[in-house]
Amino acid sequence: FVPNMKVSAEIIVNDDLENLLIQELRDTCCDTNSGGDSSFIPALRQAANVAALPGIVKASLAMPDVHSGYGFCIGNVAAFDMDDPEAVISPGGVGFDINCGVRLIRTNLTEKDVGEEVREQLADALYRNIPVGVGVDGNIPCERDDLDILLENGIDWAIENGYAWEEDKAHCEEYGRMETADPKCVSNRAKKRGLKQLGTLGAGNHYAEVQIVDEIYNPDAAKAMGIDTLGQVCIMIHTGSRGLGHQVATDALTEMENAMARDQIELNDRQLSCARISSREGRKYLAAMSAAANFAWVNRSCITFLARKAFSEVFKREPDALDMHLVYDVCHNIAKVEKHFVDGKEKTLLVHRKGSTRAFPPQHPNLPDDYKPIGQPVLIGGTMGTCSYVLVGTDKGMSETFGSTCHGAGRALSRNQSRKKLDHEQVLNKLKESGISIRVASPKLVTEEAPESYKDVCEVIETCQHAGISQKVVKLRPIAVIKG
Ligand code: 5GP
Ligand code: MN
Ligand code: MN
Repeated sequence: FVPNMKVSAEIIVNDDLENLLIQELRDTCCDTNSGGDSSFIPALRQAANVAALPGIVKASLAMPDVHSGYGFCIGNVAAFDMDDPEAVISPGGVGFDINCGVRLIRTNLTEKDVGEEVREQLADALYRNIPVGVGVDGNIPCERDDLDILLENGIDWAIENGYAWEEDKAHCEEYGRMETADPKCVSNRAKKRGLKQLGTLGAGNHYAEVQIVDEIYNPDAAKAMGIDTLGQVCIMIHTGSRGLGHQVATDALTEMENAMARDQIELNDRQLSCARISSREGRKYLAAMSAAANFAWVNRSCITFLARKAFSEVFKREPDALDMHLVYDVCHNIAKVEKHFVDGKEKTLLVHRKGSTRAFPPQHPNLPDDYKPIGQPVLIGGTMGTCSYVLVGTDKGMSETFGSTCHGAGRALSRNQSRKKLDHEQVLNKLKESGISIRVASPKLVTEEAPESYKDVCEVIETCQHAGISQKVVKLRPIAVIKG
């Protein structure tokens, strides 16, 4: 399909999603889907280009929410053999928003506590407390020297400074802290950008959303997560490492240019810029990426602190009296060293998940004790007007997709296409009719982020379910959303 493929590219789809991907491939030949952007590469071709990278094992995998991204497609999972001296690490396989991720907080409130008026109050309180939008600074104090400690310690920094609860740690992937982080590998420019953005949500599709438990598919798993009551109120938060992570990615892409020439790494697409894992540039990126991942956990912790405060203001009760426990926190833009079986042999791999969520099976040693019986919770956002899901990982996913599943609905239209095709007022009216209170910092975001801009999340989830790589636990429905 493309030159130099070392392994195959395997995409998990149903018929509709397959047609979408093939249509995109056809359209790009005649240049209608790219919105005039000549650098646009369709997702299928991107997944194939990744299969041509040195040291990749088994397959370049793509999840059903796959769509075109920078170098790697969003939804791509690619694992590289740590024992292969030629194997690479690629910033494009992680994404610019390093450790972008999702967390879910539960409450002991139910739908009757959040009538129309309260919904509006909640949306206001969240919007007032959580800084959102482009170029908006945060108000979590952190000195420059303290930032290095934060980058090294991840969530432990947030716990020590009173922004996270001690118990939150066990409910974060990697326990909220990458041990491979080295703040010295993060540029001053990245640190400068990070310092003022700590505790901000960001723009685009980052959100804090109040949701209602709408359907329960797996009562045992739902009970273990404390989200086993229909009508129960939860809060979902989606954000990442802000400008700090973006700068780490940008810095690494520049540095890797030289490494590629030196090590004679040939690529099908320049955006797949990478370096050997064992090279100076490769090791530096891994250490900087890990530090940015730690920043993201602190950022999600700070937003959680602010969301707990907002709820506390509205309901005049302390967050712990509202049972605002962290259900789980997942990363969906990250590369991690993990052990997996390939052709019956255990290998140490560097698994890139870009727009894909880790979904480890029951009894996996990396899971906290309370989730060992059920498997890792997986949190999937839909759109601001449709449902979101909680899933769990499976043994089949562990053996077939390196323990990975989808991360969202995935875009169906580019941002350009959405703006051209959809009407601002219509989108807002429709959300209002569905009883969703919404606060958006940037008006153009309304159409870009409209439900119609995304694939059908239910189809994506069902496709993962049929493939057996994750199982449904709970469906959530939005009642209030704040976005960049
Ligand atoms: P990404 O991480 O690729 O930027 O986005 C992840 C997913 O979040 C998207 O594929 C989409 O399904 C979902 N999403 C985007 N906006 C919203 C929102 O406002 N609410 C919810 N629940 N999900 C969203
Ligand atoms: Mn993000
Ligand atoms: Mn994300």
